[in-house]
Amino acid sequence: MVLAEVLPQGRKPDKLRALGIVALNGMFDEMDAVGVLRQAAHDLLPGDLAIVSSFGADSAVLLHLVAQVDPSLPVYFLETGKHFPETLAYVETLKKQLGLMNVTALRPDPKDVARFDPNGDLWETDPDSCCHIRKTEPLEPITEQYGGWVTGRKRYQTVERGVLPHFELTSDDRIKVNPLAYFTDADVNSYKREHGLPEHPLFDKGYKSIGCAPCTSVVAEGEDPRAGRWRGLNKKECGIHFDFNGAIARPMADADHTLFKDGAFIADPFRAWDEADDPASVRYAHVPLPVFMAHRAAFLANPHPLGLLVVPGDNVEDVRQDLSRFASIAIRFPSFTDGRGYSSARLLRERFGYAGELRAVGDVLQDQIPLMRRCGISAFVVTHEPTRQALRSGKLPEVHIYYQPVGTTEVPVGTRPYLRRAG
Ligand code: SF4
Repeated sequence: MVLAEVLPQGRKPDKLRALGIVALNGMFDEMDAVGVLRQAAHDLLPGDLAIVSSFGADSAVLLHLVAQVDPSLPVYFLETGKHFPETLAYVETLKKQLGLMNVTALRPDPKDVARFDPNGDLWETDPDSCCHIRKTEPLEPITEQYGGWVTGRKRYQTVERGVLPHFELTSDDRIKVNPLAYFTDADVNSYKREHGLPEHPLFDKGYKSIGCAPCTSVVAEGEDPRAGRWRGLNKKECGIHFDFNGAIARPMADADHTLFKDGAFIADPFRAWDEADDPASVRYAHVPLPVFMAHRAAFLANPHPLGLLVVPGDNVEDVRQDLSRFASIAIRFPSFTDGRGYSSARLLRERFGYAGELRAVGDVLQDQIPLMRRCGISAFVVTHEPTRQALRSGKLPEVHIYYQPVGTTEVPVGTRPYLRRAG
């Protein structure tokens, strides 16, 4: 069936919408990758389709399809400024070998970089925002110019991509075309061999999915090919693909910023410890105190930033010698009435001199926060909406009576002259 014969006149995305993305996927479900791309480029979206390529480990396959269908199709490369030099060399190799005529590098706005990432380390503390300024923002004006764009994503790569179709309709009526959706790892490798495609220089060194250098690591045998991307960080997609059915993703929504620190809700670089984590390589996780003690040597040798989780019943004295190892200590408050976390916080701050981030997690409500602050807690993970609003607006109840001394400046209630009973 030729789509142009059955669809009404008008812009291609309108035609596609009229046809329905489900029907479109049904029609081209069985089609091979080059056929899907050819349909998209020649019939569905002629002159209105662009390719976004990372020039990573598998990119040669998609770009070879492009070269077969139309080497003048626009190909955009997100030059984040964080790529391996080998990737930049690979861009030139593929351009030359495949005869790609229309490759454009998209760079982040220098003003955004200067403002949000002056030290170049935003990837470490807030990778969503880093991807936003380096990928989403530069790409956004380009996607506005086209009715559709092509990605090299594949179902097998991650659980999240397991249902990826050939065609997706974004919420702003653009089409994402995924010609390689059904390719397996073996398909990719045999395609590369069959067509004599050059490998990314890092592929044979164990890099199976290659993005920016700081966020890419070697993948072990049997691991998810994308396991080396943002390893140890609570992140799986770069943001441009994050919103599966919708438009290009924005950084986290405000409601997802649950860490209140230095007067604002911010993206939380830390995540919870996972049993599958490796003590020697995990980073930005709050490690439960007993787990830390059980693998102390490995954690101490681990070069990455680490956190510690303290729950009621834990003895913080056990980690006294190692406190400087933790960039953040999370103290769990399991319920409003459980005050043991206050004692742990005071011990850490006052007796052991811990100077890093001390955060409250769990049942954190607005009435507790002034007390927590007095015990040295400097950050709060808050999901309770009225408490979030109170923090945002700076309206928190004051505490007028203290039953225990806090720090060196507080005085227990019974010793305060103004509270002593007369006579
Ligand atoms: S992949 Fe890493 S370095 Fe690249 S833009 Fe995203 S967070 Fe930044």
